[in-house]
Amino acid sequence: MLKSLFIANRGEIAVRIIRAARELGIRAIQAHSAADATSLAVRMADEAVDIGPPHAAKSYLNIQAIIDAARAAKADAIHPGYGFLAENAAFADAVVAAGMIFVGPSGDAIRTMGDKVSARSAAEKAGVPVVPGSGGRIADLSEAAQIAERIGFPIMIKAAAGGGGRGIRIANTREEFEQFLPQAQAEAQAAFGDGGLYIEKVIARARHIEVQVLGDGERAIHCFERECSLQRRRQKLWEEAPSPALPEEVRRKLCASAVALAEAVHYKGAGTIEYLYDDESHDFYFIEMNTRIQVEHPVTEFITGLDLVREMILIAGGARLRHQQKDIRRQGHAIEVRINAEDPAKNFMPFPGSVSGLRVPGGPGTRFDTMLYDGYQVPPFYDSLLGKLIVWDETREQAIARMKRALHELDIGGLKTTKPLHLLLAEDGEVRKGQFHTRWLEPWLEANATRLSQ
Ligand code: ADP
Ligand code: ADP
Ligand code: MG
Repeated sequence: MLKSLFIANRGEIAVRIIRAARELGIRAIQAHSAADATSLAVRMADEAVDIGPPHAAKSYLNIQAIIDAARAAKADAIHPGYGFLAENAAFADAVVAAGMIFVGPSGDAIRTMGDKVSARSAAEKAGVPVVPGSGGRIADLSEAAQIAERIGFPIMIKAAAGGGGRGIRIANTREEFEQFLPQAQAEAQAAFGDGGLYIEKVIARARHIEVQVLGDGERAIHCFERECSLQRRRQKLWEEAPSPALPEEVRRKLCASAVALAEAVHYKGAGTIEYLYDDESHDFYFIEMNTRIQVEHPVTEFITGLDLVREMILIAGGARLRHQQKDIRRQGHAIEVRINAEDPAKNFMPFPGSVSGLRVPGGPGTRFDTMLYDGYQVPPFYDSLLGKLIVWDETREQAIARMKRALHELDIGGLKTTKPLHLLLAEDGEVRKGQFHTRWLEPWLEANATRLSQ
């Protein structure tokens, strides 16, 4: 069992990890940049360590600074959260080489499943259907153009190392394809330090459905699915569990395929296997695996009663999975909305600033995971997620009513946020019927632009 945990992340997920550590009796050591010295996580942790300047490259992405600080603090383990170094295999290896435990899978497992091209091959090998596309990385333009013609346009050009909705382009014609490919390569090189690309058929009107898995290196279990189709620029804004679109027999097949893949790669820790789902043909296709805790994990916690962050810390400490598959049951419906410091009336422009008059929702089935406190100054250096409002109720309809009620209670004075967007979504007829797909929200935003600016 671990005695101390170094948290190499910030924001709401750092707060979430501190909570899990505290309940396990583990000492929480919080890393922070100079811009985060006054953060809630720093206030809550047992100890806080400055790891460098505000710019993430010099602090939260600085492997050496983090390893040195964790060692000096005598940490047993490092939790990477999500984003930053969470899916960096070299970091996972460096943590182990420095004599500490990485809370997540091995560097090798990250290399296999974090690289989207090798993850596709692993999925195919495990018998999990993948989106039709290039077998491996694209080697040369004319060969790629031939594959694209064969699959048929529109074609998606994706970065092997991409993430967070970045590194993806759609080409509608061969001309566009030939024009975009070199640009995409240069962008991927600049953004991810790896210019590797692959291509996939665009699955029109697909739903994004993902399966939460837990593994101990030998055995894996699933904790059902999350539906994350309400996206803007391929970033999730509203997530829920269960998916309103999945017939029970497809759910069973989908979840079984995720377990098969996790076991095939001897997955250790918490992970998410993402799929696109065609709700007319009932076909599903693997798109990627996230080898870390995900932003939207709380919806799964609400419907299963598990604490996923606790489970991943226990597994990192050497424990076997504590549950059999039959022990994982689900009940009711949970919805999460992302509260970002962005102005939905101004094309989601980031809105850093000072929080005043914070009022946080409460009451039955209501959870608000946030790093906000009254007077907190949101720094301009990092992503815009301020918190996640999550609700649970017996049915989806009741959960939506509860979400509306909780959103009305939430007041973040001083900042523009995505709250008004979520209020409108909760009242939308199609959202209420669960009738949407990954490209539903963007045209909806255009159609509702005036309502959003009121
Ligand atoms: P989730 O997959 O948990 O829904 P997001 O896609 O919103 O989460 O990503 C969570 C955070 O991690 C965001 O800050 C995003 O920018 C970042 N992120 C995700 N994948 C990567 C990656 N491969 N490289 C760098 N940052 C990433
Ligand atoms: P990231 O690592 O950035 O999360 P993903 O591969 O998970 O990248 O894709 C992000 C989103 O892009 C998906 O949730 C989906 O909305 C869309 N997408 C990805 N691949 C396809 C595809 N082949 N066809 C249609 N949409 C796709
Ligand atoms: Mg993804």
